[in-house]
Amino acid sequence: MSKLKTKDPHIRELAALVSGPYSILYEREDLLAYDCDGFTIHKHLPKAVVFPNTTEEVAAIVRYCARHRLPFLARGAGTGLSGGAIPVNGEVIISLVKMKRLLEVDLENRRAVVEPGYINLKLTNSISDKGYYYAPDPSSQSCCTIGGNVAENAGGAHCLKYGVTTNHILGLEIVLPNGDIIEIGAGGIPDAPGYDLLGLFTGSEGTLGIVTKITVRILKNPEAKQTVLAYFDKVEAGSQAVSDIISAGIVPAALEMMDKTAIEGVESAAFPVGHPLDIEALLLIEVDGISAGIEEQIDHILTVCQRHHVREVKVAQDEGERARWWANRKTGFGAMGAISADYLVQDGVIPRSKLPEVLTCINQISKESGLRIANIFHAGDGNLHPLILFDARIPGQAEKALEVGSACLKVCADVGGSITGEHGVGIEKMNEMRYIFSEEEISAQTDIREVFNPDRLLNDGKLFPSPGRCVEVKLAKQAEKV
Ligand SMILES: Cc1cc2nc3c(=O)[nH]c(=O)nc-3n(C[C@H](O)[C@H](O)[C@H](O)COP(=O)(O)OP(=O)(O)OC[C@H]3O[C@@H](n4cnc5c(N)ncnc54)[C@H](O)[C@@H]3O)c2cc1C
Repeated sequence: MSKLKTKDPHIRELAALVSGPYSILYEREDLLAYDCDGFTIHKHLPKAVVFPNTTEEVAAIVRYCARHRLPFLARGAGTGLSGGAIPVNGEVIISLVKMKRLLEVDLENRRAVVEPGYINLKLTNSISDKGYYYAPDPSSQSCCTIGGNVAENAGGAHCLKYGVTTNHILGLEIVLPNGDIIEIGAGGIPDAPGYDLLGLFTGSEGTLGIVTKITVRILKNPEAKQTVLAYFDKVEAGSQAVSDIISAGIVPAALEMMDKTAIEGVESAAFPVGHPLDIEALLLIEVDGISAGIEEQIDHILTVCQRHHVREVKVAQDEGERARWWANRKTGFGAMGAISADYLVQDGVIPRSKLPEVLTCINQISKESGLRIANIFHAGDGNLHPLILFDARIPGQAEKALEVGSACLKVCADVGGSITGEHGVGIEKMNEMRYIFSEEEISAQTDIREVFNPDRLLNDGKLFPSPGRCVEVKLAKQAEKV
């Protein structure tokens, strides 16, 4: 450990709990990099950032914080989009980035064991030569950690067919807020007795414990896959094609949509592929499985697209073309930086059949507010991502963007959907939890948090609204029209 330049006893004690170099950051200029995650509208400095190497070190840090009543939270790569890793109470951040080993690959039983700081995409890259992959593929997969994915129950483009993170987690090792270490999930033994703690911890947004080891399911690569790109003059036609593809009984591996503003963004950024700029919507559709059925599914998809007056539809000619289309889609959020100073990503879910009317409402909210909204989303499972474009340098625009985001979520809730599909609630959508849960339903959940986190030292002020705090949405007029 390098020599510490502080007399703060907590910093000195915490540093002593961690072995090796780079064990702790505590100086203001270092802490600035940890004052927010991908939700950049709110910023708070942590007390310190500690970098444990092992589960035992995590437990020792947690016990120290509990004993001295220091608030603390876990952090992976900090790509979260709802503010879950923001230290709103000046927390000690426990960064898991040094715990990044692939511990075991068990092809026979189709599982792998990783540390929480292991990067999502590295898992697929490590096993692809053996014909296997890890299915959950958030667009941030080249940098987000599997620990963060578990906390947020992350989704991704290919989760339409294969399910989100919770469907791929077989076991977890967890450090509880009192420093106890537990293992849950029985490593994937079906129908294990007792409560389904795996289901509870996956998606609990780092409020119940710190994940220190993860057993995941790995899948055999599909025998064949084909990818289709379809351009539509009208957004309604594209939306209707989405519904018709699914109701025809086809379950694509992925079914993604981008609207006109989103296309302008991706074509102005690092991975343009020549999409026309005057269309209103494009669909990126992938089917996979055994070779025998693929052509038939593609024919069916092409027919549905033709029925909805597609302007142009094409099938990827080779792996290179497919990869370019996906790079263009997966870098879509960041591409908004090419057309706007700032953007806020929203994450509502709706029944697929409501897609055309909800997109119309979002368009109306955009006109009312004067802020442009781009839509890039997982259309197949109704998981919308309105990207609200604003300029934080203009006074009032950041607040307006938040208000617009809330209004979009109200529209989703009012058509029977939800306020988050994969990015979590964090601090961003705590109030909006009231769009979908009653006070009693929220209490039932906070009671569970009390069991594991009674002193609320771990990641407090996230996920649930404070009792009695009322929701104010000024731009929710559109919701009434749905
Ligand atoms: C460009 C971009 C694209 C994205 N695309 C997608 C997408 O397609 N699908 C999707 O689901 N998300 C997406 N995200 C959001 C984000 O990448 C995911 O939420 C991801 O799971 C966060 O992982 P992380 O390692 O960055 O976690 P962090 O941001 O560091 O933390 C997120 C939350 O998890 C908690 N946490 C982290 N590690 C642990 C741990 N070991 N134990 C307990 N709690 C922990 C933190 O306290 C925090 O509450 C995207 C983000 C960006 C920036």
